[in-house]
Amino acid sequence: MKTNNPIDNLMHFLVHNSNFVTAVVMCLVHTVLMVMMYSIDVMPLFQFNILSVVVYIFCSVLCVTGHVLLVYISIIVEVTAYTILSTYYIGLRCGTYCFLFSIVPIIIYLGCFLFKGKMRWHIVILLLLNFGLFAFLYAKFNNIRPVYEVPPMMRAIIVIFSSFVMVFSTIFYNIIYIYSSELRVKSLELQNKQLSLDASEDLLTSLLNRRGFLPIVEELMKQDKPSDFCISFCDIDNFKRINDSYGHDAGDEVLRHITKIIKNKSHGCDVCRWGGEEILILMRDCDINLAREKMEELRRSIESSPTIFFNKRIFATITIGIGENKEGYVSPDDVIRTADARMYYGKQHGKNIVVFEDRE
Ligand code: GH3
Ligand code: MG
Ligand code: MG
Repeated sequence: MKTNNPIDNLMHFLVHNSNFVTAVVMCLVHTVLMVMMYSIDVMPLFQFNILSVVVYIFCSVLCVTGHVLLVYISIIVEVTAYTILSTYYIGLRCGTYCFLFSIVPIIIYLGCFLFKGKMRWHIVILLLLNFGLFAFLYAKFNNIRPVYEVPPMMRAIIVIFSSFVMVFSTIFYNIIYIYSSELRVKSLELQNKQLSLDASEDLLTSLLNRRGFLPIVEELMKQDKPSDFCISFCDIDNFKRINDSYGHDAGDEVLRHITKIIKNKSHGCDVCRWGGEEILILMRDCDINLAREKMEELRRSIESSPTIFFNKRIFATITIGIGENKEGYVSPDDVIRTADARMYYGKQHGKNIVVFEDRE
C-alpha cells in the first residue's frame, strides 16, 4: 500500500521488515560495542562482539529467507550470552544487563508472531528466565570485582549506550505494534466496505443486484403520495446463441457492453442485474409514455452498437417490457411481474421490441 506520505511509507517498510531491521540494528550495536571493547583492551568481549556481528549478518539473511524462528532463538541466545560474559568481564556497574531488558519487546512481539494460542506459554517462560537471569547476575556479581577494571568515563559511556539500546527497543517495538494494529483496522474497514458492496452489487457488471435494488423500490412504494414510477424489464435476445457462437467470455463482454449503454442512457435511474441476462431499470417520476420513449431510444442504441470482442463485431438486441406503478400495488413484485409479462409478450412476438401495455 504505497502512499505519497514518506512517514507512512517508512512505517509501512518498518512494519513489514521489523525482523530484518532488528537484525541490522543489533549488528550496528555490536559494531559500536566492538570498538568500545577494543579501545579499553577487553579482548574477550572484543572477540565476542565480532562473533555477534557475524551472527546478526547471518540473521538478516535468515529474515529475508523467512526463517524467523532461527532469528528469534539466535537473538535470545546471543544477548543472554553477551550479558553474562560482559557482566563477568567488565562488571555490573557497566550496566550491560540492560541488553536483557532490551530484548523483552522482541521476546513478546516476535514471540506472538511465532507462537499462537496455548503455545504462547513459551513467551511467559522466556520472560521469566530473562528476569531470573538478571536477578541471578545481580546477586552473584554485586560484590565481585570484574576481570577488567573499566575507566569511569568509558563505564559511563557503556551505561548510557546500553540504556539507550533498551529505551530504543521499547519505543521501536511499541510504535511497530501500534502502527501494524492501525494498518490491520484500516484493512478490515476496507474489507467490510467491499463486503457490503458485494452484498448489494453484481460483480460482473457492477450493477445493483436484487438485494440492493428491491429495498429502493420498496422505499419508493412506502411513500404517502403514490409514486409515479416505471420499471423496465430488459432481456437480451438469443443470448444463449451468442454464448454458443462466440464463447462464454464473449457473452460476458456483450453483457458488460449492454450494461454500459444502459447506464449511459439511464441517468438518475437505478439499474439492477436481475438474473443472468435480465436487467431492470427503475425510472422515477416517469409515466408510461415517457418511459416508452426512453426505452425505445435505448433499444435502438443497443441494436446499432455492436460489442467489439477480439476484432469481432457482435450485434445483440434486447426486448423490453415496461410496468408502471398503479394504485393498489403494494410490493415491487406487482410492478416487476407486469413488466416481465410484457417482456415475455415481446419475446413471443419477434423480440427486439418495447412492450408498454397488456396485449392479448
Ligand atoms: P431469449 O431471446 O428468449 O431471451 O433467449 P436467450 O438465449 O437469451 O435466453 P435463455 O434463457 O434461453 O438463455 C439465457 C442464457 O444466458 C443462458 C445462460 O448460459 C446465459 N447466461 C446467463 N448468465 C450469463 C453470464 O453471466 N455470462 C454469460 N456469458 N452467459 C450468461
Ligand atoms: Mg432471460
Ligand atoms: Mg434472453
